[in-house]
Amino acid sequence: MRRTGLMGGTFDPIHLGHLLAADAAREAANLAEVWFVPTSVPAHKPQPGASGAERREMVETAIRGIPYFRVETSELNREGVSYTIDTVTELQNAHPDREFYWIVGADMRNSLPTWRRIEELARRVSFICLERPGEPDDAAVLPAFLQPKLLRAAMPPIGISSTDIRGRRREGRSIRFMVPEAVREYIERKGLYES
Ligand code: ATP
Ligand code: MG
Repeated sequence: MRRTGLMGGTFDPIHLGHLLAADAAREAANLAEVWFVPTSVPAHKPQPGASGAERREMVETAIRGIPYFRVETSELNREGVSYTIDTVTELQNAHPDREFYWIVGADMRNSLPTWRRIEELARRVSFICLERPGEPDDAAVLPAFLQPKLLRAAMPPIGISSTDIRGRRREGRSIRFMVPEAVREYIERKGLYES
């Protein structure tokens, strides 16, 4: 079984926090690959500043040349909102030779109890958890059934968020060194997040 990490996110835009988290998870859990899974965004949530195609292209740009990273577009291709349980079920059916791990920052880890069919999801995958500055580091409060399914990975704490990057763009400030240079060039060329 090839151990494979799945990193879900809006990636609006992808930034160094995502890339460091994915690589830290890969090292900690000895993953052969990590697949980035851009989400389609629910109608009732704040809409992304970039389209699904642009968010996918930014992920592709960020991971170009890294042999063990790839982008998995099944959520973007599916109609409507995707739930992680549906994505995992689909990928497990399509790739019976792989063992999947779901990678989450601390904010997402803390929300796990509210995820759709979380008990079934936790039977299907383990979660690799990264700390995130400003998020409570208290996995102990999560339900007992989740505890054996949580693996921790360490990364240099990075207080970067896509929200902050979009805010900087609106204010005309620099996002250099927060995203890969090629992603910064893409954002500037397309004029993303200017208003
Ligand atoms: P937004 O501000 O738009 O919510 P974000 O920076 O939180 O964007 P997401 O696409 O929402 O990025 O996050 C995808 C995944 O990456 C989540 O599991 C999140 O916890 C994790 N993540 C994002 N930024 C970091 C970071 N700086 N450190 C650790 N994990 C992170
Ligand atoms: Mg987020």
